[in-house]
Amino acid sequence: MSMLEIHQFLERLSNLIRSQARQSSDAFDLQPVHLNSLYYLSICNRYSDTLLALAEYLSQTKGTTSQTVKLLEERGLVAKHPDPKDGRVGHLKLTASGRKLVRQAWPSPILKEAETIIPLEQQDALRDQLKQLLHTCQSINGQKTFAVCHSCRHNEKRAEGYLCRLTQEPLSAEEVTQICREHEFSEIT
Ligand code: SF4
Repeated sequence: MSMLEIHQFLERLSNLIRSQARQSSDAFDLQPVHLNSLYYLSICNRYSDTLLALAEYLSQTKGTTSQTVKLLEERGLVAKHPDPKDGRVGHLKLTASGRKLVRQAWPSPILKEAETIIPLEQQDALRDQLKQLLHTCQSINGQKTFAVCHSCRHNEKRAEGYLCRLTQEPLSAEEVTQICREHEFSEIT
């Protein structure tokens, strides 16, 4: 299959998913950017749950993202927590209502249905291939990758767990599965 065909399939899938995202947003009386922000905050690590990191992830200005966060706070879906070491830094955490909404909205209903039709081994193979394509494109692109610790050059596996060599802080088994704004690929995988 040529990259042109792959591009066309991805485009059509993206259109389907975007269209469903718009319907889900309407159902929650939100906009797609609000749902994307909630989803990001549900999967990012503690170095990445700031207003600036969210703005980078969404490719928006800090001012625009600030308006998005304000609405999510007013709706009781997100709460700001001061950093224990630096009070000037605020961490954006999902509230129980925010977590519930994310569980309802992801994955997209059409993919949930496809999950019941496509055999598990094919889903695994598809996931691995899409992951490789994403990693390759992110590496070529040279922008922030927002990926997980397992593929990061700063991640060190130790007998007692994991260490982030960039921050010199230990990482829990759960944290190494969360996406990070400081992520840098160790190699194209
Ligand atoms: S190891 Fe990499 S991805 Fe993980 S917390 Fe450190 S910088 Fe982020």
